[in-house]
Amino acid sequence: METTVGNLEQHWLPFTSNRDFKRTPRLFVRASGMHYFTPDGRKVLDGSAGLFTTAAGHCRPEIARAVGEQLATLDFTPSFQRSHPGAFALADGVAALTPKGIDHVFFCNSGSEAVDTAMKVALAYHLARNEGQRNYFVSRERAYHGVNIGGTALSGMVRNREVFGALMPGILHLRHTLLPENRLTRGQGARGVELADDLLRFVNLVGEKRIAAVFVEPVAGSTGVIVPPRGYLERLRELCTRYGILLVFDEVICGFGRTGETFGAISFGVTPDLITMAKALTNGAQPMGAVAVHADIYRTIVDAAPAGLPEFFHGYTYSAHPAACAAGLATLEIYRKEQLFARARDLSEYFLDKMYALGELPTVADVRGYGMLAGVEVKAGKAPGVRGNELQAKLYDRGLHVKTTGDVAIMAPAFIASRADIDQMADMLREAITEF
Ligand code: PLP
Repeated sequence: METTVGNLEQHWLPFTSNRDFKRTPRLFVRASGMHYFTPDGRKVLDGSAGLFTTAAGHCRPEIARAVGEQLATLDFTPSFQRSHPGAFALADGVAALTPKGIDHVFFCNSGSEAVDTAMKVALAYHLARNEGQRNYFVSRERAYHGVNIGGTALSGMVRNREVFGALMPGILHLRHTLLPENRLTRGQGARGVELADDLLRFVNLVGEKRIAAVFVEPVAGSTGVIVPPRGYLERLRELCTRYGILLVFDEVICGFGRTGETFGAISFGVTPDLITMAKALTNGAQPMGAVAVHADIYRTIVDAAPAGLPEFFHGYTYSAHPAACAAGLATLEIYRKEQLFARARDLSEYFLDKMYALGELPTVADVRGYGMLAGVEVKAGKAPGVRGNELQAKLYDRGLHVKTTGDVAIMAPAFIASRADIDQMADMLREAITEF
């Protein structure tokens, strides 16, 4: 079935070469299960679960029904001084999946908003404890924490920062943990735990009581998949606890089964103080993000505020939107009923076998992976990122949708993928990479 596509000029696409796209548009008009469909009816296998969002596969009727019913019943309610039952039910559902104690949930509409919200929570928490002087934030080189002002300042990817200059004062970046010594290591590398001690340098630089929070992605995703070295997250936890610094895991990609457990915090056995999340919370069917915080943080902020006023002057018109909550509840129910996190864990071995096998190709520089997330990095061509871009286009033409960053193809299939789907992804990657 052909779908006609009209004028492409007016829409300014994000994170896209608009000039290239408008010359060679790559559109999807339909999706189902593991596949997208193009306007000319071509079937494209989804190797990145949309954008790490669609862990239960595309166009789940349960979610569509729940959203439709919600919109016909209660389409919108303000989220300030008003609410609706779905918001509380979803907060309960999320809290049941996060590590024990991290059980209060603030809703927003994206991962970027979750990150900026978490920064504000950290500042409000310290102020409530009379430690308002803690206004430095620590993140990492090569990190991706979204595109709002706070998250851009935290991020460590040069392209995302260079145009915008110094967005916020008081941001310090730990070194990244992508070490050549760990090349082609499956899972956590043996080298690099000492990189966590960069935090000590910052404590010694700005003072013991000046840092509000450390933000890290348990597995850094968008930058091209960097798995933390063994002992690294544990060491960060230890140092944060020692110096009264909040540890924030940005689990916008890792959350909801991607690492084989509900959250990366559980896979790695390290409990942060706050968790940001977004992708896969609604299976990508509605925009939504959230910040889960430890009960002590919630209590401290709420109890310190004067009675009769909002305790935290922050929130979005669309926080806990009824349709997003309905999508979230239906999504969590699918995860539970189909045991999709266990499925992700079981499928991960097979998936990683296939991805690491690509490491034998002469043009593959590295393969990194954990759970159902893998980065296959091709050797740079004329300039960094050019081959990655070409690879992404070649794969689209072959029938595989993949997110690339620089020269890394980031593979993150939905958890409903069959072994045959994984085989097909690996085969298409192999063929396309072999052409370089
Ligand atoms: N944080 C992390 C770790 C992410 O991977 C992303 C998106 O990829 C974000 C934040 C931003 O999320 P969004 O694009 O929903 O704003």
